[in-house]
Amino acid sequence: TTTPHIVVLGAGYAGMMTTKRLIQQLAPHEAQITLVNKHNYHYQTTWLHEVAAGTIDVNRSRIMISDVINTKRVHLVQDTVERIKADEKKVLLQNGELDYDYLVIGLGFEKATFGIPGMDEHAFSIQSVDTSRMIRDHIEYQFSRYKTEDNPSDDILTIIVGGAGFTGIEFVGELAERIPVLCKKYDIPRKKVKIINIEATPTILPNFDEELLEYAQRSLKARGVQFRLGTMIKEVKKDAVIVGDDMEEIKAGTFVWTGGVQANRIVGESGFELTKGKVNVDTMLRAPGHDDVFILGDCAWVMNKDTGRPYPPTAQIAIQEADVCAHNIKTMIQGGTLREFTFDDKGTVASLGGSEAMGTVFDGHKLYGLQAKVMKHVIDDRYLFLLGGPGLVLKKGKFRPF
Ligand code: FAD
Repeated sequence: TTTPHIVVLGAGYAGMMTTKRLIQQLAPHEAQITLVNKHNYHYQTTWLHEVAAGTIDVNRSRIMISDVINTKRVHLVQDTVERIKADEKKVLLQNGELDYDYLVIGLGFEKATFGIPGMDEHAFSIQSVDTSRMIRDHIEYQFSRYKTEDNPSDDILTIIVGGAGFTGIEFVGELAERIPVLCKKYDIPRKKVKIINIEATPTILPNFDEELLEYAQRSLKARGVQFRLGTMIKEVKKDAVIVGDDMEEIKAGTFVWTGGVQANRIVGESGFELTKGKVNVDTMLRAPGHDDVFILGDCAWVMNKDTGRPYPPTAQIAIQEADVCAHNIKTMIQGGTLREFTFDDKGTVASLGGSEAMGTVFDGHKLYGLQAKVMKHVIDDRYLFLLGGPGLVLKKGKFRPF
């Protein structure tokens, strides 16, 4: 018999950690491992709002895959996945194809536009290093433009963020820190720049504790973020968004949509059955009808048996899923009992820009301000430690003594 071939698609949280665990758990003669990714680097998706605002450098958020994955053990393929043919156990890439015995899909998310007119054409989205850098550059370009046009309208300085979920709120927090810096750089009074967060539901950050929400909103408002809650975006134009039943027009030079994500479209296009844009995997994290295909991270819904609802997609859950996925693939190769996934919720901390943050840790203990920020850095650095040991923490880590 030949050595089984495990193919991992996507070097995000799910793909990187699965690959790491597979290397630790399987000897070279037991399995051949291939990791496919669009870029030769892995990026910290959870830091992309900082890249998009321009508060951290692009390179801080990315890590060369070969710096943290042993390339003698894992075959790295830098290519773009185009389609998965699960019935033939094949993956089609832009520049070739791969056969697999076990497949791990960790291709992440893309923007969901809900069919809102103009969203595809005119909205930026915080999706990858490249799209996030584009937002940073576009905002700065608008400042630059403002200084060179005759009679410029202040509207071109307005930044609208659609969606007050985790990404939207973390992003306006970074903008609140970044805009004063840009104002100084371009000699523009701060009051001329509006940061407006528009959200269809009556509250920001669903699933968060009321007190934490109030804290977040107060902190953001104090730094100049305006909220338009309970306001539905109806259409996006090149220089404006149309909101509400009375079709009010709000002009802006930059519109960033954070209001919805769905699984990478390749998953649906490859014939996996989707429920609300993602695959409902079984408790072992396998695609329905395909025992050799594991789907992780933002491509999958994993049910919380206690509530009967899926867990929200997070890096935290993607990393934990990787452990179970690697264990289950090892078990399928070596024999034994498959493990069911259960989520160990370690809490969530949202950064609000600068030294501001809030969230819950452990069993619901609330943290605010600097304390929460320190915890956020601990969470970020813990992941870097899991991925690349102390060397990576020193090189890319967030922890800075205050
Ligand atoms: P990703 O990390 O998105 O990785 C997908 C990978 O697949 C990427 O490397 C991509 O390049 C690659 N890829 C995509 N398409 C292809 C293709 N066709 N071919 C080859 N490669 C491809 N979660 C938390 O737990 N805590 C937080 O504080 C938090 N903050 C967040 C802040 C922001 C701004 C955002 C956007 C998300 C945040 N999240 C947070 C959510 C978290 O980032 C995601 O849930 C997580 O990234 C999902 O991991 P993943 O491995 O599924 O996908």
